Amino acid sequence: MLSGQMPIFVLKEGTSREQGKNAQKTNIEAAKAIADAIRTTLGPKGMDKMLVDSIGDIVISNDGATILKEMDVDHPTAKMIVEVAKSQDTAVGDGTTTAVVLAGELLKQAEVLLEQGVHSTVITNGYRMAVNEAKKYLGELAISADDDKTLRQIAITALSGKNTGTSSDFYADLVVKAVNAVATERNGKVSVDTANIKVDKKNGGSVTDTQFINGLVIDKEKVHAKMPSVVKNARIALVDSALEIKKTEIEAKIQITDPSKIQDFMTQESDTFKNMVEKVKKSKANVLLCQKGIDDIAQHYLAKEGIYAVRRVKKSDMEKLAKATGAKIVTNLDDLTASALGSAEMVEEKKIGDDRMTFVTGCANPKAVNILIRGGTDHVVSEIERSLNDAIRVVGITKEDGKFLPGGGAIEAELAMKIRSFANSVGGREQLAIEAFAKSMEIIPRTLAENAGMDPINTLIQLKAEHEKNHATFGIDINGNKIGDMKAAGVYDPLRVKKHAIESAVEVSTMILRIDDVIASKKSSGSESPGAGGMGGMGGMGGGMPPY
Ligand code: ADP
Ligand code: MG
Repeated sequence: MLSGQMPIFVLKEGTSREQGKNAQKTNIEAAKAIADAIRTTLGPKGMDKMLVDSIGDIVISNDGATILKEMDVDHPTAKMIVEVAKSQDTAVGDGTTTAVVLAGELLKQAEVLLEQGVHSTVITNGYRMAVNEAKKYLGELAISADDDKTLRQIAITALSGKNTGTSSDFYADLVVKAVNAVATERNGKVSVDTANIKVDKKNGGSVTDTQFINGLVIDKEKVHAKMPSVVKNARIALVDSALEIKKTEIEAKIQITDPSKIQDFMTQESDTFKNMVEKVKKSKANVLLCQKGIDDIAQHYLAKEGIYAVRRVKKSDMEKLAKATGAKIVTNLDDLTASALGSAEMVEEKKIGDDRMTFVTGCANPKAVNILIRGGTDHVVSEIERSLNDAIRVVGITKEDGKFLPGGGAIEAELAMKIRSFANSVGGREQLAIEAFAKSMEIIPRTLAENAGMDPINTLIQLKAEHEKNHATFGIDINGNKIGDMKAAGVYDPLRVKKHAIESAVEVSTMILRIDDVIASKKSSGSESPGAGGMGGMGGMGGGMPPY
């Protein structure tokens, strides 16, 4: 898009269209409305939202991305804000409310400047200059560490706003264990594929029954009652083909003329299964996890050999089992050699709630692990699942980057101060916009204070005074209802999350500011609303700025 050159539209009469200041104003209002709606959820003392859909299903959440996903949003620019939360969530897993609240404030401050007659191009330029400067400071202010204690604090900070209540410490330990288990190192670079941490939930029990499994839980029982319920020192075979005889597609008729042949026929079938089980036995496997079906007769022989078997294991579970136990997935039973087997200290059938599940535990060096969430009701376990997934992502990111920032609004207060002095050095028309950016950063400590029931104005004044005194890590000590050192308090946010939140907030607010014309367009296949067409690039934005 070239600035200054607007395409000429020749519209049919009656086409809905909003132009210039008017379009800008309604766009900003819509975006601000979304930000305002979730502002009260920010931080540990933030409130929850209850979302009720047209058929009465309820979601209770404190998570920005979840709330916005569930909200029925209509206005195109409001949708753009929702997209920011989604992209933040996909990219880094946390900081969604922060990104949206910042975007709302950047627009609100821009509105003030627009009313003073500052052109939107000047504002977007100023915002861009400010965000580049801010990223530099963030890098400088970041603290380097990736030890377990740090990771634990990262998890606790991410969990603190959620409905995990007093159990945050407990969950934080589970998360750190899980992330450490799946972390791999190559050429000195740590990487964490959080997809290898399976998070399952099962209603019932107490939240403290939630457990970390050094291996995997499969939501399946053993196929035969006579099989052992516990296998110690498990040697595990993973097979992705059926232990069944394929049924023919067309109905086949077998004519047996001699009565003695009936027995032959049945024996032959039975021998086929006996052979299959013989091959499993020969490999010395004592556990068989099969992705497909296992015939009744095969089940019988397996039970007779004391082999624990599960059928119809999900493909994704098979892949994780291979990573957890070190087994190779085989298709042909002839390939089932001792070296293809995986191992675990124990394979066990346990009753969880009303269901029987298979626990594969005590894997020596598992590259895939499991967290099984328990809790009273569906709402509880679902919100814990969302919270743990957030925490897993941020701990994973910190394990990879080894860099974090003081939270509780400390970093935003510091940025506000630094960017203000940067604005003075820039001068010119952009100075006002850069100052507006600095002011916008203060919305984070301000909202955290407000949500904690503290006086936002006084708190902000005190906080600014500390930062003037070079106390860069001072933020809102929510539990103490005062300001305090966030580094000492262990309130940590990953550098990557903060960076991404600020970048996406600037990206979406400048994008909205640049729109001066909203025209109802013809319905085109693939885009369901006028806003959707322009959103194509938003989902994948990795923090890069749109070309100017
Ligand atoms: P987001 O969706 O942006 O992650 P949250 O509701 O999780 O929103 O709130 C995150 C903010 O709360 C961060 O700025 C973080 O530093 C802050 N925060 C978390 N725990 C504390 C705490 N104990 N004291 C002060 N601030 C906290
Ligand atoms: Mg959060």
